[in-house]
Amino acid sequence: MMRLDPFAADDAELAAVLGDEPAYRVRQLRGWLRRGVDDPAQMTDLPTGLRERLAECLAPPARVLRHSTADAGLTHKLLLEVGEPGGAEAVEAVLMLYPASGHRRARATVCVSTQAGCALGCPFCATGQAGFRRQLTVGEIVGQVTAMDRRLRDGTIAAPTNAPPDAGQRIPDHVTHVVFMGMGEPLANVEATTAAVRWLHDGEVGLGLSARSITVSTVGLLPGIAKLTELGLPITLAVSLHAPTDALRDDLVPVNRRYGLEALLAACRDHQRSTGRRMTWEYILIDGVNAQPDHAEQLARLLTRRDAPRVAHVNLIPMNPTPAVPWHAPPADQQRAFAAVLTDAGLPATIRDNRGGDIDAACGQLYADYAVGSGRVLPAAAEAWSRLPVDADGAAPGTRTGGGAV
Ligand code: SAH
Ligand code: SF4
Repeated sequence: MMRLDPFAADDAELAAVLGDEPAYRVRQLRGWLRRGVDDPAQMTDLPTGLRERLAECLAPPARVLRHSTADAGLTHKLLLEVGEPGGAEAVEAVLMLYPASGHRRARATVCVSTQAGCALGCPFCATGQAGFRRQLTVGEIVGQVTAMDRRLRDGTIAAPTNAPPDAGQRIPDHVTHVVFMGMGEPLANVEATTAAVRWLHDGEVGLGLSARSITVSTVGLLPGIAKLTELGLPITLAVSLHAPTDALRDDLVPVNRRYGLEALLAACRDHQRSTGRRMTWEYILIDGVNAQPDHAEQLARLLTRRDAPRVAHVNLIPMNPTPAVPWHAPPADQQRAFAAVLTDAGLPATIRDNRGGDIDAACGQLYADYAVGSGRVLPAAAEAWSRLPVDADGAAPGTRTGGGAV
């Protein structure tokens, strides 16, 4: 029997599982789930017999395999095992704490995974290198947030004690922001992603987060962007661009061969028209591949075109090391020069701080415990991989020539 995902279930479906129980039990059950208690055994105000029935009928609770911390206690990674025996997968979620500074309020941002692995095979990304294993369910996505939220509320995750409490180290006691930037491509699991966004936003059954504090990051799957547009919530759309031309993007983001830059810009414009929100671009900086001054100039021209969507932020992400390629970030002065070209063109560009590097929790480093190459990748991605300019001796690739990319 397929067990019920309580985060995806409506009241009638939950009532059916609860049987002859009074109607308020649905509310009690939802209250536990919202507080991060997904194990029926811990739902102490439910009768024992009912707890046992729920344990049989509901999807099993996530198991914490490992909790790692970095950045003096401001970054936490949970390795969770989700799913039933036989379909169990390890997934990673990261919590980044930002104490208040100046006028900025303190934040607690969870970066969630939407798939175990990813089929899209972007060569620089550890998740892509591992390949695709399976989709995560709504409960498996949302459960990453509630697991962190519960630990903030009960003090398991607290402000670092190595600074006095008035030194601006105070952190929120609950999750304030969610970014869909962990393992997997959210829009390749679009039904679960949109349901998770709705749950996180819903103030009755879910966490009641404002749509503005939810960001979905995508490589640009156009049908998925259209679904997000239909969702009609003013969430932030973040698109991983990584290259200013189709020729270079075809290699760095193989799915670009299906959905090219012009169509991507048009889909982002539509999303913007309907939500009124400015969007974020993400651009990984890889030394010798996409981070030279002429790439910055091309990027500035592309993003300031009259018909380009309006930009809230260009997030430059210095490449974090991953197992299968010898690529790395350019030197800091080159990163700053790249950012300066964009800001000079009027684009708000910043270089992303590198959280969680020591615990493999930084952008693109999540791959749970999968062996590289153990899953499936899209044929286009596999082909792009085979053409990677990686020297046989593992040296960093030089600047490409040909193909008009550089
Ligand atoms: N699949 C989605 C979301 C997950 S990846 C996407 O690609 O947008 C989140 C961000 O991390 C993306 O911008 C991705 O390109 C970036 N990323 C992947 N590998 C990286 C690496 N090795 N170093 C830095 N950023 C990386
Ligand atoms: Fe998948 Fe995003 Fe990694 Fe590309 S960068 S392989 S889309 S997770």
